[in-house]
Amino acid sequence: MVITSFGGAGLRRWLLTALLITLSGGSALAADEPPQLNWRGSWQAGGLLVAELPAGYQLHWQGASLAVDSQRRVLFGLPRDATDTVVLTLQRSADGRQWPLSYPLTPRSYAISRVDGVPQQTVTPPPERLARIRREAALVAAARARSINQPFYASGFSVPAAGRISGVYGSQRVYNGVAGRPHYGVDYAAGHGAAVVAPAAGVVVLAEPDLFYSGGTVIVDHGYGLFSSFLHMSALAVVVGDQLAAGDAIGKVGASGRATGPHLDWRMNWGAVRIDPQLVLQALPALAN
Ligand SMILES: [Zn+2]
Repeated sequence: MVITSFGGAGLRRWLLTALLITLSGGSALAADEPPQLNWRGSWQAGGLLVAELPAGYQLHWQGASLAVDSQRRVLFGLPRDATDTVVLTLQRSADGRQWPLSYPLTPRSYAISRVDGVPQQTVTPPPERLARIRREAALVAAARARSINQPFYASGFSVPAAGRISGVYGSQRVYNGVAGRPHYGVDYAAGHGAAVVAPAAGVVVLAEPDLFYSGGTVIVDHGYGLFSSFLHMSALAVVVGDQLAAGDAIGKVGASGRATGPHLDWRMNWGAVRIDPQLVLQALPALAN
């Protein structure tokens, strides 16, 4: 039976092992606290967070290791509907030891507005448009499928257009009782032809003059999975492959695609996660010029 194996030498070895585990575990824990990470940005839905990772450590999320740039910075983005506490795993490379790091989220709510009596055709795109819409969605997804390993984002972000903010991240309209896609950008009500400039350095990965939904569209890769998109422009000043400094011209404000009036719609992604540009401005403000 089980008990018999605990007699004699077996028992002594077991007791000794237990004692050693207690000694090493007990003394090591007190002197072996994980390093603290100082995150910039706020733990809320749509947020972008940045931290410097001490040398000799890795950070994991959902089984994958987060990319670390040349200055040992890591980025983390939160989707619009995130509500659960985020648990990242800090791992020491030397011995593989892991610590869970828990970050509860600050609750966030969004403006929801009802719009009734909309002609159904403007709610549901006609079937002949669907092939074009799918083709363009694939084009946009491909542009963000990989990101350059250069921290263009690190010099910080400024607003890409002058003008009153007329639309915010996360808001949603319910058309004829059916919830539309949430709005993921921040809208600047600038006049037709007003300048759109790069909010931070980056490389142009998409420049399309006339997409069905977003009209004149440019996507800029700021490095390490951070992307900006600029929608509804009336003219583009860049082509794919252009490297931009902060403040360089991208195009001109317009109302192309499905827009009700001239404005710039600025969106941001961390990989496939749509984040709030206004929270990016807070987390990574442009360095003083
Ligand atoms: Zn918009």
